[in-house]
Amino acid sequence: MRETDEIVSIFKFTSIPGENENDPQKNVKIITIAGRLTDEGNNRTIYVSITFTKVTMRILYIFPHPDDESFGPAAVMHQQLEAGHEVHLLTLTRGGATKERHRLGLSIDQMGEVRYREMRAVEKTLGLTGMTVWDYPDSGLKNMDPRILEGAIEDHVVALRPDILVTYAVHGVSGFHDHLVAHAVVKRMYLDMRDHGHAYLRRLALLTIPDSGEPVFVDGRIRLKNSTSEEIGCTIRLRPEDREMMIACLHCYETYQQTIADSGVIEKIGDAVHFEIFGEVHVPPLDDLQKDYHDH
Ligand SMILES: [Zn+2]
Repeated sequence: MRETDEIVSIFKFTSIPGENENDPQKNVKIITIAGRLTDEGNNRTIYVSITFTKVTMRILYIFPHPDDESFGPAAVMHQQLEAGHEVHLLTLTRGGATKERHRLGLSIDQMGEVRYREMRAVEKTLGLTGMTVWDYPDSGLKNMDPRILEGAIEDHVVALRPDILVTYAVHGVSGFHDHLVAHAVVKRMYLDMRDHGHAYLRRLALLTIPDSGEPVFVDGRIRLKNSTSEEIGCTIRLRPEDREMMIACLHCYETYQQTIADSGVIEKIGDAVHFEIFGEVHVPPLDDLQKDYHDH
């Protein structure tokens, strides 16, 4: 028998289930693949074990309304979950003030209950690591003392210890006032927490869309300005399955289908989701939110 004949012997691999270890404080997942290689022809068995470590991140998305997560971010969340990261969602309101409630003849509270159930369906569809839905006034965040929101979000962040926070960019994508409030509150809280030693916070990512570059003033009207290409620090390309997941999440909002259709969100998102990264410049933009973070 020549040496090479032995090398090309056919081994059958049988995996042996084992526990993976996690060290959440260090963002390291230790993965062990153990198995048995059986060479049936020669009646030999070799036991193998391969151990490798994988850096995982805990990512917390903070949005004012149920459905904000599904207008684009759901596709990114799906990628992050598939890559083994933890993805948590915090929603500040139950979204009960939507005009859809008039069509359905529901009070703000009743509509909030419907929207909450739809969100639970999104949580299940995406397989989120965790989801928290608060009941601050929908369309009324600007009337609140921002320090109350800041304090509540800070308590949540302290308990969760995320590596990355995600919320809206300064224009809120759509200019909705609750979106602008979320941006301001989360950014101030992030900086304040970093100043006070919460070093686990590594990055603040801000959901955005590219600016069209059209004139801001046309026919005496002012258009909403989004992010210039220089301001975009991360562009995540979507695979067909990421887009399918986003569409599946949008479909969970059964009472909102008309608005979703009117928004043209599926076409608008296309095959990329964009973020500004606060205090960081990346040229070209990063292709995921987890890499090249700064250890401040
Ligand atoms: Zn919203």
